[in-house]
Amino acid sequence: MTERIPCIREGCPNTILPATAARTGGYCMPCKQEMEREAHQRYIEANRRDVNLYEGMTDPVEILKIIHTRQVHDPLIRYVAYEQSKEQVYLSLSMEQQALMIDYAMQLIRTGADDTGKDILVYLVCYHDISLSAQIPELLEYEIYYPVILYKSTSAEVRDQLLQQVNTDDENRNNLLLMLAYIGDEVVVDQFQQWRQSPPRWADQLHVAPEYYTTEAGWELTNEGQRRDLFITPSYSLYKVKENEGADATSIGAPISMLLTCANNCEWCGSPLTTLIDLDVQHPALKNVAWNSERLQVQTCVICSCYGVVYMEMDSAGEPFWSAHNVMPMGADEIDLDDYAQLPPDAGRQFRIAAAPRQAFHASEWAMEPSSSQIGGHPGWVQDAEYPNCPCCASRMRAVGQLEWSEVEEYGDGMYYMFICEPCQMTAVSYQQS
Ligand SMILES: [Zn+2]
Ligand SMILES: [Zn+2]
Ligand SMILES: [Zn+2]
Repeated sequence: MTERIPCIREGCPNTILPATAARTGGYCMPCKQEMEREAHQRYIEANRRDVNLYEGMTDPVEILKIIHTRQVHDPLIRYVAYEQSKEQVYLSLSMEQQALMIDYAMQLIRTGADDTGKDILVYLVCYHDISLSAQIPELLEYEIYYPVILYKSTSAEVRDQLLQQVNTDDENRNNLLLMLAYIGDEVVVDQFQQWRQSPPRWADQLHVAPEYYTTEAGWELTNEGQRRDLFITPSYSLYKVKENEGADATSIGAPISMLLTCANNCEWCGSPLTTLIDLDVQHPALKNVAWNSERLQVQTCVICSCYGVVYMEMDSAGEPFWSAHNVMPMGADEIDLDDYAQLPPDAGRQFRIAAAPRQAFHASEWAMEPSSSQIGGHPGWVQDAEYPNCPCCASRMRAVGQLEWSEVEEYGDGMYYMFICEPCQMTAVSYQQS
């Protein structure tokens, strides 16, 4: 039997055959491979260069085309990211540039790159509320039924065609109903009401009655068969300024009172409640909100909201208090407060409310990573749309804003959704995560 000899790499316990040692210079195979990997890595690091594809470019259309082009992976090239976010570049587009981006997206769709093409169209619809009514017949020819928000502005002709198709097209019915919900005009509202009064033959193939689809597009069918919007407008972005931009700089939006620790405690877990937002009702973001107090304060327990909806009522002075209607959700009795860090007292200090409103559907496609935190605007649902019912009057509550928790805490995650019932002067907070 041949005697095995130790691998010569320091600290390696392996032994090898002399024949292997002759081939590898005395190293075992795992060590040899490891050393080759390290050498390769050193070579890459020594020879890798930065490539800035945006060098000298100023045309946002050309910049976006590059942002949307996947570069072939080359370990020796490190592509420099563009200095602005994709969202910022989209927002900077003029009407003419938006039209050029639509053309580019359609060209991609025609040549089979439909995922990128659809992404571009979604950004344009969300950030600029463009109408794709001229492109929709062609999108339908390509059997594109998703993302449904693309169909928000559709011609009457196509709407009528979809109203027919939903009766016969079993495969696409879910998306067709959502598309119709997004169109949401009088004809569509009447149709949903008719379906409620006499359910169509295909209704039993759905998980929910047709009228529930409307909530995904931000409205509900009232008992009288009218459209009632489930979110407030206009939409004002809430965003964090960087430390070096100066927490007191007022040129970039106004400071807003947010994320304050309250004196009163959660009745479920005992931790202090948090005021997510505290906004003067005179602020233009709340111009369509009927609130009796001078300030709209939305309080919750940020821990327990992850388990279930937390409702708060307002006392005669307009101060929130824990609602007797709250029902402790499953799991809330097992919360160990040691698992949760307290929010720092200045958690809201770096937040600003934008000086001007943005499109109502700006943040509605959560997966597209828009800046999500906002007062007003269609919610960016991480899961299905879920508007809580007011425990006093049983109506669906209207969304008044949302906070993306990763913007609040470094390792935070998920979204807190804020709701109001104006007749009952009640707030609610719910939470979703991926
Ligand atoms: Zn070894
Ligand atoms: Zn709690
Ligand atoms: Zn109510």
